[in-house]
Amino acid sequence: MTQHVKKLSLPSKPRDFGFFVDGKSVPSGDREVFERSSPGHGVPVSRIPKCTAQDLDRAVAAARQAFDDRRWSGLNGADRAAVLLKAAELIRQRQEEIAYWETLENGKPISQARAEVGGCIGMFEYASGLARSLHGDSFNNLGDSMFGIVTREPVGVVGIITPWNFPFLILCERVPYVLASGCTIVAKPSEVTSATTIMLAEILSEAGLPDGVMNVVTGSGSSIGQALIEHMDVDMLSFTGSTAVGRHCVKAAAGNFKKLGLELGGKNPQIVFADADLEDAADGVAFGIAFNTGQCCVSGSRLIVERSVADKFEKMVAAKLEKIIVGDPLDEATQIGAITTDAQNTTIMSYIDKGRDEGARLITGGATVDMGGGQYIAPTLFGDVTSEMSIARDEIFGPVLVVIPFDTVDEAITIANDTVYGLAASVWTKNIDKALMVTRRVQAGRFWVNTTLSGGPELPLGGFKQSGWGREAGKYGVEEYTQLKSVHIEIGKRSHWVE
Ligand code: NAP
Ligand code: MG
Repeated sequence: MTQHVKKLSLPSKPRDFGFFVDGKSVPSGDREVFERSSPGHGVPVSRIPKCTAQDLDRAVAAARQAFDDRRWSGLNGADRAAVLLKAAELIRQRQEEIAYWETLENGKPISQARAEVGGCIGMFEYASGLARSLHGDSFNNLGDSMFGIVTREPVGVVGIITPWNFPFLILCERVPYVLASGCTIVAKPSEVTSATTIMLAEILSEAGLPDGVMNVVTGSGSSIGQALIEHMDVDMLSFTGSTAVGRHCVKAAAGNFKKLGLELGGKNPQIVFADADLEDAADGVAFGIAFNTGQCCVSGSRLIVERSVADKFEKMVAAKLEKIIVGDPLDEATQIGAITTDAQNTTIMSYIDKGRDEGARLITGGATVDMGGGQYIAPTLFGDVTSEMSIARDEIFGPVLVVIPFDTVDEAITIANDTVYGLAASVWTKNIDKALMVTRRVQAGRFWVNTTLSGGPELPLGGFKQSGWGREAGKYGVEEYTQLKSVHIEIGKRSHWVE
């Protein structure tokens, strides 16, 4: 049994990380370095190189070469699966170290970070099976003189840009599937949370991934990220982050028409009917908005509740939110930790001010929490919210929940769909007809019935409307990184066109 220390300590000095190209870690050398402070403590923890345009070109060239010479895509699925399974085992061995660095750079509670890394092991294990089962199609019904085959081929060099909210989890919802397809990778993590992406590159190399198949460049989004999305030798881009930068990716992709996968923002409804198990629903709604301090693209940030129980239910949710343990991310007992960036902290607090100014009623929270260092915000609930208010429309990406009442099923569905986003939704009811009606008619790529924020490697992720394009994970996730080729095979003597 693993013995977990109740409260971990900060590192004595910041750790230096290199980026990763062609199977080797590259130290920062004379490059500029970004120093990251733990958002939970305000203490420097890591130092990350700022890659140059030449570094990016080298990384893309390594990925290109590794793809073109078929050192990975040319292996049989069983051999690719063996590397992914070995990587899963190595992640398990380094689970504590990865979780620690995730917590240091992101500010999430250590218990949660451990669980997320555990989930990532499952992603690799599941994707290893997909490396073997990926297949195309055949047409044996085209007449005696024709046979048709549809093959799936890897797209090529894939750029992966990930955000800071789940640096390792979001990476692992993509990398094993991309590798299962036979593609090669250049990943660019958020500058503020790069450590665990670099660790994954080392792990894959140790697991036997050929050099050049997984490369990591580090630096800011506006410099190295922008250069990656514009790169003419990158065949596909998987971008996860804000809708604004997603739109930017669409424009940048026009250079070489690279294929795009986009997972963007959400303003996700939690629809609660009077006939729900309200105790369960209150717990789920509190979890849905406070987990990861609401810094989830799938956070349930709009509580759409049947008017007959609205007053009662709002109090039940407030009571739950007030009991959540906000604390030091390195403490095992902590349920929600720090806000990851200063900018995000400012954004969340400015929305709390806007909510007050717009006339919403603050029920609980609404203030920072002083932990003697770092940045913390109490889970916040606003009542008397209307659909026009900015706190009801904009993705806040923080622990701020708004309550909007409804009277009929149709009205609940209309309110739920009254957003440019369509990432996720939850419904709470014990009535099967209502549950199914809402599930069918609310526009969202992920749906939860009497639960929220659950998931695993099997079911795909992605959004409707302005929440993105394409799907990650599951067999669908592997297929995204392939393209189809139709092969027509003539059997026997050709009937001549020119006599
Ligand atoms: P963001 O700016 O979209 O950042 C996401 C990723 O894109 C990071 O790796 C970032 O790098 C990179 N990036 C930024 N500008 C880029 C550019 N011009 N070209 C290429 N890459 C670029 O998101 P954010 O500023 O971190 O967070 C702001 C908002 O994004 C949040 O409030 C939330 O709405 C949304 N968000 C959504 C998710 C999600 O899971 N769907 C996750 C995080 C944030 P750097 O971080 O190094 O600049
Ligand atoms: Mg940004």
